[in-house]
Amino acid sequence: MNKREQYLMEKYSRQIMMEQIGISGQKKIFNSSVSVIGCGGLGTSAAQYLSMSGVGSLTLIDDDKVSLSNLNRQTLFTEKDIGKSKSVVLSEKIKSINNSIKIVYFKKKVTSKNIKRFVGKDKIVLDCTDNYESRLVINRFCHLEKKILISAALQNFELQAFMTSSWSKQDNPCYKCIFPELKKDTAMSCDEMGIIAPVAGLGGLIQANLAINFILKLKGNFKELILFDCLNLDLKKIKITKNKKCSECD
Ligand SMILES: [Zn+2]
Repeated sequence: MNKREQYLMEKYSRQIMMEQIGISGQKKIFNSSVSVIGCGGLGTSAAQYLSMSGVGSLTLIDDDKVSLSNLNRQTLFTEKDIGKSKSVVLSEKIKSINNSIKIVYFKKKVTSKNIKRFVGKDKIVLDCTDNYESRLVINRFCHLEKKILISAALQNFELQAFMTSSWSKQDNPCYKCIFPELKKDTAMSCDEMGIIAPVAGLGGLIQANLAINFILKLKGNFKELILFDCLNLDLKKIKITKNKKCSECD
């Protein structure tokens, strides 16, 4: 074993020693590539934990800049970062956690025109945005380009998350099957709705967890919506079904 391999074995030893991971599982994590769209409360914690797990490549996409009101929940941003581009700051911080990771960042908002160029060959896409319009763009793209979509949304003490693969099986739902219409709450961003710090972190962690489970081929339930009421610490999973009249995935 050379020095580099020894370093990696030690760094990821707590994962490698797990029966469900081992060296072969860790290699799957090293070879994985994930796009994180939105580098706010969800995106910062998801990207942080994916990089700590050893994910080989991350694409970070966000057109926003760090502001003071972000700092209660957007891990890795500090007061010194205010006014700087979120995707740039996040990529620098991630590099300090994992210097082997390949990172690409884009200081843009995703649109139906640019998303394919940004996401490229990444197999897994994390929707960490906070608006319905971007969510529909991401959903449509993932369906057409056969990507695994892992989505989460937050509101006050509540979070919801799910993983979809609407292209792989006829009865797998897409985002729009579950949320067919623009509801007032869904249209509002965290800044308008209010969000408490740990709930944002948990949402991103659940997304990272779903991604790792999928990479390791441990679990991949594409018909399940996770609902976590963080005030009562009540976790529910509900079955989600395809809407046969869905305009996006039919
Ligand atoms: Zn659909």
